[in-house]
Amino acid sequence: MAVLRFQAIRDTLHRVPVAVNEPARRSEIFGKNVFNDMAMLQYLTKDSFKSVQDAVISGAKIDRSAADHIATGMKEWAISKGATHYTHWFQPLTGSTAEKHDAFFETMEDGRAIEKFGGGQLVQQEPDASSFPNGGIRNTFEARGYTAWDPTSPAFIYGTTLCIPTVFVAYTGEALDNKTPLLRSLHCVDTAATAVAKYFDKTVTKVNATLGWEQEYFLIDKALASSRPDIMITGRTLLGHAPAKGQQLDDHYFGSIPNRVLNFMRDMETECMLLGVPVKTRHNEVAPNQFELAPIFEEANLAVDHNSLLMDVMDKVAERHHFKVLFHEKPFKGINGSGKHNNWSLATNTGVNLLSPGSTPMKNLQFLTFFINTIKAVHDYEELIRASIASASNDHRLGANEAPPAIISVFIGSQLTDVLDELEKVTNGKLSPQEKTDLKLNVVGKIPEILMDNTDRNRTSPFAFTGNKFELRAVGSTANCANPMTVLNTIVARQLFDFKEQVDILVAKKKMKKDDAIFNVLREYIKESKRIRFEGDGYGDAWEKEAAKRGLSNNKTTPAALKANVSDKAIKLFGDLGILTPVELEARYEIQVEEYAMRIQIEGRVLGDIARNHVIPTAIRYQNILIENVTGLKDIYGNSFKKVAGEQMKLIESISDHIEHINKGITEMTDARKKANQIESGEKRAHTYCDEVKPYFEQIRYHCDKLELLVDDELWPMTKYRELLFTR
Ligand code: ADP
Ligand code: MG
Repeated sequence: MAVLRFQAIRDTLHRVPVAVNEPARRSEIFGKNVFNDMAMLQYLTKDSFKSVQDAVISGAKIDRSAADHIATGMKEWAISKGATHYTHWFQPLTGSTAEKHDAFFETMEDGRAIEKFGGGQLVQQEPDASSFPNGGIRNTFEARGYTAWDPTSPAFIYGTTLCIPTVFVAYTGEALDNKTPLLRSLHCVDTAATAVAKYFDKTVTKVNATLGWEQEYFLIDKALASSRPDIMITGRTLLGHAPAKGQQLDDHYFGSIPNRVLNFMRDMETECMLLGVPVKTRHNEVAPNQFELAPIFEEANLAVDHNSLLMDVMDKVAERHHFKVLFHEKPFKGINGSGKHNNWSLATNTGVNLLSPGSTPMKNLQFLTFFINTIKAVHDYEELIRASIASASNDHRLGANEAPPAIISVFIGSQLTDVLDELEKVTNGKLSPQEKTDLKLNVVGKIPEILMDNTDRNRTSPFAFTGNKFELRAVGSTANCANPMTVLNTIVARQLFDFKEQVDILVAKKKMKKDDAIFNVLREYIKESKRIRFEGDGYGDAWEKEAAKRGLSNNKTTPAALKANVSDKAIKLFGDLGILTPVELEARYEIQVEEYAMRIQIEGRVLGDIARNHVIPTAIRYQNILIENVTGLKDIYGNSFKKVAGEQMKLIESISDHIEHINKGITEMTDARKKANQIESGEKRAHTYCDEVKPYFEQIRYHCDKLELLVDDELWPMTKYRELLFTR
């Protein structure tokens, strides 16, 4: 092993940046491998093209003969681009993407061969799905699963495979993936938001949720990463002493990007361009070897697919450049972790961003309506947002005094706070003409101006309004965005339905004017949702205390957070709106608690292995060298040897002491694991892993890291933090 570490370091010394081909103009290659409108116009008949368009815009069904035509056109296009295979590309509940490739190639009865791809193959497939997580759904219903084409996300060619984005559902209709509930939630928020947007503009017929994610990641030399079983198996380091220099100097953030890394980024961006992923921004992040990439925002379903695709592309391109991408939320102790900010908004088919303040008081009333309703939704369902981003790896950020805390709150900035404070004072009932004029001119009318110089951004807030969108910052860097986006769309839809009902009642029964009614309802929401708003430092203890006083949840661990997903409130919300049935919620919950326990179990095993098989033997080897040294000194100095061998003897003892603690820790941890494994209930098992097994990690690590400081560097088998973090 010791050889491996130095071999790995030697490998990195010989790395030269891999040359990349980049087009002079990226716009020229943008979407070249996507079956987008341009390609469809070329390869489809007018009627087929229209049926795809109708499916995308209004969710119309595509009939079988149209599907056959589309499939033929898609195949011709794909083959013209060198594709030999096709796959239904889907997002099972593992969180990553799945694909099974089939060749276009078919033989005919007379022995000749052709390339074939029909409507049947385009529309539906039945992958052998028995080993994807299903939370008991298929066992319960003894039903198989199938994938079905999602025409709202265009097919694309990756490598030599035509990839068709699909949903994955059981024959009995239950969703087995992340995309199905997302699509349902998008439809739902479209319905709810369109109805409300019509108050302000009757021509609005569709509202899309928009998502712009920002992906953070670490980039580590592949050879160095391979020398660490913990990184290879769990995606993070389970031990390792902090380097003398970490991120104290803040000299990495926005610094110049190292050449090797830049070439990786350029290569990856070229791939993204071909796949129609509109990547735009790249920069260094706060921690050494940490970077960020962000695209231009898109319709949320497409953006979610693009993020999943991107993570896959990054892995593959990194391979070419001898890098390993670490998406884990906390790969290195004591060093900043990674997140995936989800910028979210609502956009009308008339080209209006509903969370963007406008140029007239009426447009601003529209802005305030969507703005305040979103805050109210987050207020009412904060626990569900927390649950939507819960994972074993994200627990290292949330609730661990880093990035946003586990408490969900909304930051809006001082100027908008003033606006809401003014609105709160609005008279109950009909507004006087004077009051209305004042409001329109001095409060609502002032919004665009004040937002322009609204620069006070609060980086500690998990849910911040940033000018024309909300930014959910608590999403983990490994996460599939579908989950948090589904929850956000759903709770905002719920809220907008309720809002419309209340406004309509005031108009009908109290004979109020529409804008009077809107002001009245918004005023109540501002009051009711006040406790979710927080402008201060989200990391401090003071906020924890304050949040507890306000009755906000503070679920620090995944098992605690997930519980909200199966609460009566969640079952009612998701059920009423047709997003997830109780069976689906229960199944997802089972899968999540199960996955949590498994991840902790795996980490526990890997840590035990490394500590016992790598650390302890190395420490003993070094101790033997010390013992030899002490024995030698005794030979020379006789009885007075202690004068010269005192320090060595202390080291020998210290090593034994650490070894003893490590061994004891591992034994106890293994016992705790055994006990946990006997627990029948997935939920209880997750809690036990969290409370009884996980605490040993730090304890064992502490002594391993101490040994790293004591033992001869020549002997230490694991690549050290300073090497992992500062080699590029
Ligand atoms: P930051 O200062 O956080 O980097 P930016 O304005 O650069 O802010 O935007 C960050 C992200 O927000 C980008 O991915 C961008 O595409 C996205 N974004 C901007 N406007 C919207 C919107 N209306 N809906 C969704 N995402 C948006
Ligand atoms: Mg951001």
